[in-house]
Amino acid sequence: MQFSYHNPTRIHFGQGQSQQISREIPASAKVLVLYGGGSIKRNGIYQQISKALTGHQWTEFAGIEPNPSVETLDKAVELVKAQGIDYLLAVGGGSVIDGTKYIAAAAQYEGYGWDILSGKHKVRQALPIGVVLTLPATGSESNAAAVVTRTATHEKRSFYAPAVHPKFAIMDPSVMATLPDRQLSNGIVDAFVHVCEQYLTYPTGASVQDGFAEVILRNLCLLASHYDQRHSAQWQENMMWNANQALNGLIGAGVPQDWATHAIGHELTALFNMDHAQTLAVVLPALLREQQPGKTRKLEQMGRNVFDLKGPQLAEQTIQAIEVLFRSVGVMTTLSDYDINRHDVATQVLPAIADHDILPLGEHRDIDLGRCEAILMRSVKG
Ligand code: NAP
Ligand code: FE
Repeated sequence: MQFSYHNPTRIHFGQGQSQQISREIPASAKVLVLYGGGSIKRNGIYQQISKALTGHQWTEFAGIEPNPSVETLDKAVELVKAQGIDYLLAVGGGSVIDGTKYIAAAAQYEGYGWDILSGKHKVRQALPIGVVLTLPATGSESNAAAVVTRTATHEKRSFYAPAVHPKFAIMDPSVMATLPDRQLSNGIVDAFVHVCEQYLTYPTGASVQDGFAEVILRNLCLLASHYDQRHSAQWQENMMWNANQALNGLIGAGVPQDWATHAIGHELTALFNMDHAQTLAVVLPALLREQQPGKTRKLEQMGRNVFDLKGPQLAEQTIQAIEVLFRSVGVMTTLSDYDINRHDVATQVLPAIADHDILPLGEHRDIDLGRCEAILMRSVKG
């Protein structure tokens, strides 16, 4: 095992922590506050932020959409450059935070912004970012990854750069009070899949990473089984902290990772506008069945240590337990649940995957186009 681990995001967790913003952002900074479709104006977060920024010079950019588009984000890049903004404050869920990471990097790059997503430009510098998290799911508040969509070409791509790691994150679980159930469920699924993609890989024997991953998976199962308590402070606190820990770098340090479910899922969002978590819930079970020979031992370990299963065909029992978990919070597990059929897979999804140069996938780089087809067809009923 070999790794370098450094998570530089300072986390301020708990109610009332938004007042830390004024201490975190230098008094001399020219700040741009970025947010989405306006939920923060309806639930009072905007007012909290305005108060915390009293005395700072700040302006705002609204309208970053779910699955943020480069078309929208480039408007913010222009604003940042024109106004000499030197600090970005993202207020929202994964979409606003990821979009802000792109803006922070693109504002320091003279070329075409999409180069960052296509891999042509390697990001080495970016404007500093602070985060006020409003939706626990992605872990984006304290990691260096971002996912951006180019609507014109139905491409959804990610980039990773330590330069966009947020400087600080305000994580006040009480902001979850106004989240629709759909987003809470999506959060459970997204966080669960993040852990699986770092844990259900082989070979490993990393006891800290495995043990920590299993605790988070068990916790997410508990949150799902106590879904009726989702409006309680304890449920919200545990949800927010578990989702953060699922993708902050620690459980993935030095172990093989398999981000194929996310990569295939991004294509489904770009084509059919499915929520991010909805795509993960339809791809993961099919992928685990298709890749089972290489993942059997880890699936069996997960069955024993996360779901308390035993007996024959433990790996398949584990995959079924994952499907039951996702459906228990209302997130469906086949493409057919979204009226996507074999013809759609063959004529739209597979050509998009082939076109976007994302293959091969998987921790052993053994998922080619043929295997993507097998995975996706497993997710279609009949
Ligand atoms: P999201 O797309 O940021 O937000 C979904 C919806 O929730 C928006 O309509 C938003 O409304 C609303 N919302 C957010 N907070 C709210 C609150 N407190 N009350 C009421 N409504 C609220 O959802 P997400 O699941 O966090 O992010 C998904 C994106 O993150 C995808 O693009 C995915 O690919 C990406 N992702 C990134 C990473 C990473 O490591 N960076 C990992 C996984 C996924 P408003 O717009 O009005 O605020
Ligand atoms: Fe995700």
